[in-house]
Amino acid sequence: MATDGAQAQPIDGAQAQPQQPGVEYLMHPRPVSIDPEYQPSNKLQGKVALITGGDSGIGRSVSYYFALEGAVVAFTYVAGIEDKDKDETLKTIKELTKGRSGKGPIAIATDVRFEENCKKVVDQVVGEFGGIDILVNNAGYQHFNRTVEEITEDRLERTFRTNIYAHFFMIKHALAHMKEGSSIINTASQVAYQGASWLLDYSSTKGAIVAFTRSLSQFLVDRKIRVNGVAPGPIWTPLQVSAGAVPPELLATFGSASGVPMNRPGQPCEVAPSFVFLASNQMSSYMTGQVLHPNGGAIVNG
Ligand code: NAD
Repeated sequence: MATDGAQAQPIDGAQAQPQQPGVEYLMHPRPVSIDPEYQPSNKLQGKVALITGGDSGIGRSVSYYFALEGAVVAFTYVAGIEDKDKDETLKTIKELTKGRSGKGPIAIATDVRFEENCKKVVDQVVGEFGGIDILVNNAGYQHFNRTVEEITEDRLERTFRTNIYAHFFMIKHALAHMKEGSSIINTASQVAYQGASWLLDYSSTKGAIVAFTRSLSQFLVDRKIRVNGVAPGPIWTPLQVSAGAVPPELLATFGSASGVPMNRPGQPCEVAPSFVFLASNQMSSYMTGQVLHPNGGAIVNG
């Protein structure tokens, strides 16, 4: 398939970046955001999509695929660190949608850990585009821990605020602007199902996201708003090279260690179509409360 070339390039294990979140423009090899063989078909024509953490990695690929499918895209990024990735994402979306009339894309700088910021993001998107049809809660923070004791209260708070509090804050404010037929998609992780000793706090938040997805789906079923999740396996993104996210000795073999039958990391473009599927009422109108598993073949019974 089209991404094989990029996946065949070995990962340079000595490319840890000094900050969180990581940045895509410094990664080598670069993640593959778009499969050149992908054939869009207006599955999200005219929909307004808000994607948190959409400047890079999985969120960037989702932004591209949603734009290719006809959606108007707004995404968030972290100012001062991710500006270059944000510019590249905006530029590419404009290229992908060249010649198309209508609004967008927009990038919004924010820190999703705090409710007032999430409200401002929602207000800006609604102010510019009139509503929200697709909300993707995707921003995430990961830091490995070799012992339980090193999980400080500050780190725990950062992990939980970024990975699960933000989901509550975003839906709390976005729901007022979401009509029947809207879709909410949350980025969980394979580690929610299989655990990961060095990701005790992170995997706990991802488990919370799965339960959040299921409970919220039941809560919103009468409003005909579908809520689903995607639980990727190891995907080559800036998260993996950001400061302290992955033990350095594991980076060089990322995705090819145990637990991945395909024996390679996935690319963002191999995950984004799951989001398209769940966002599209043509594709997944009978699905809510479910999680898709683009993870290289791991059986998770989820
Ligand atoms: P990424 O670094 O490209 O994306 C993470 C994004 O989170 C960043 O772009 C950043 O904008 C955002 N973010 C982090 N802290 C933030 C904060 N305080 N405020 C606002 N935004 C913040 O990496 P990615 O791997 O594409 O991550 C996207 C999602 O996928 C995350 O939820 C991650 O947990 C999940 N995930 C990734 C993998 C993987 O192997 N890469 C596997 C399973 C799940």
